[in-house]
Amino acid sequence: ANRRQKRVLILMSDTGGGHRASAEALKSVFELEYGDMYKVFVIDLWKDHTPWPFNQLPKSYSFLVKNEYLWKFAFHASAPRLVHEFNFTTTGTFIAREMAKAFTKYQPDVIVSVHPLMQHVPLRILRSRGLLGRIPFTTVITDLNSCHPTWFHKHVTLCFAPNQEVSDRALKAGLNPSQIRVHGLPIRPDFAMAVKPKNILRQELGMDLDLKAVLLVGGGEGMGPVEATARALAQELAALEENGRPRGQLIIVCGRNRSLATSLESVHWPIPVQVKGFVTNMSDWMGACDCIITKAGPGTIAESLIRGLPMILNDFIAGQEAGNIPFVVDNGAGKFIKDPREIGKTVREWFGPRIDEFKSMAQNCLKMARPKAVFEIVRDIHLLAQQRTYVEQPQFAVA
Ligand code: UDP
Repeated sequence: ANRRQKRVLILMSDTGGGHRASAEALKSVFELEYGDMYKVFVIDLWKDHTPWPFNQLPKSYSFLVKNEYLWKFAFHASAPRLVHEFNFTTTGTFIAREMAKAFTKYQPDVIVSVHPLMQHVPLRILRSRGLLGRIPFTTVITDLNSCHPTWFHKHVTLCFAPNQEVSDRALKAGLNPSQIRVHGLPIRPDFAMAVKPKNILRQELGMDLDLKAVLLVGGGEGMGPVEATARALAQELAALEENGRPRGQLIIVCGRNRSLATSLESVHWPIPVQVKGFVTNMSDWMGACDCIITKAGPGTIAESLIRGLPMILNDFIAGQEAGNIPFVVDNGAGKFIKDPREIGKTVREWFGPRIDEFKSMAQNCLKMARPKAVFEIVRDIHLLAQQRTYVEQPQFAVA
């Protein structure tokens, strides 16, 4: 009998790469679809529940990411199996106790990890308490291609892969086909809803109604060469057409990077430009624009596919985001170009003589889109949670 509300514990860490966005998307769909049947907790296990120095990981992550060589070193140095197994046994001893406390506190009926480093330790805790297989543990992979081996663990109940390539990697890592589901990357449910017509959105957002529009973003943190790219784009699109108008307009979303927004706001632009900080209506901005320039974040890529926006990827977080580039380029959904002037020229041509190439890329995007993924993942987790009603009281004793 289902006597109480089920508790879903989502393990994430705010280390970019779409983990936070995916966790929030899953939580909101649980609420939308099942109301108060579930109580969903999203916790940053590294930050909130691990002892120093391990809880410094998210912070040192921002530092590492901004220093590409260090990050590359950290990412690849931890990839070989032997090394990471060693790391998990040594650091795991310290961390396990704190994680176990978190489990005791939240008493989950089902656990969902959206982070590459949150399989081994939590599963070991479940195992040591005889709860492996009794409390379903699922991994939702938020990496579109080059998956770090720590994403995969043979003892998960289910592993949700965003596409066939990642599913193949999971099989190679030793998971059974029955443990793997392929639905797509979970992104906010707004993207599964019908989008308003472009001219209405443009009116609402104060954009020019007729000019083609470029959306420029650098992930949630506003990272990468946003300013140089904005200037080059504006310059390329500024030359007047026969009708006396420029070739395009530009929307720049700076995310949480305040100093970037401040600095861009003071520029005198030769074309219509809007500079935004962190926006909460990305689905509308994407619906109102024609193409996007972004770093290779998995969330932004999956969202752009749904809105049919050809992409120019201009940056990536070394290691974890590198594989997102061939995913986009090889499927004809966009290009990888770092040089701001080259980006400007490409967009100018897309909005002019190469409009056919541009349109076919937009079609390719729509073909790859998986707007319902988050709903399908949540439904599968719901079915799991319902199957396990025989676990009346999870047995998490305090260590
Ligand atoms: N995003 C947003 N508002 C902003 C900037 C970004 O909602 O102002 C969202 C974006 O739509 C995406 C996520 O933040 O869902 C960024 O995730 P991504 O995987 O692209 O990169 P990350 O920032 O996690 O490295």
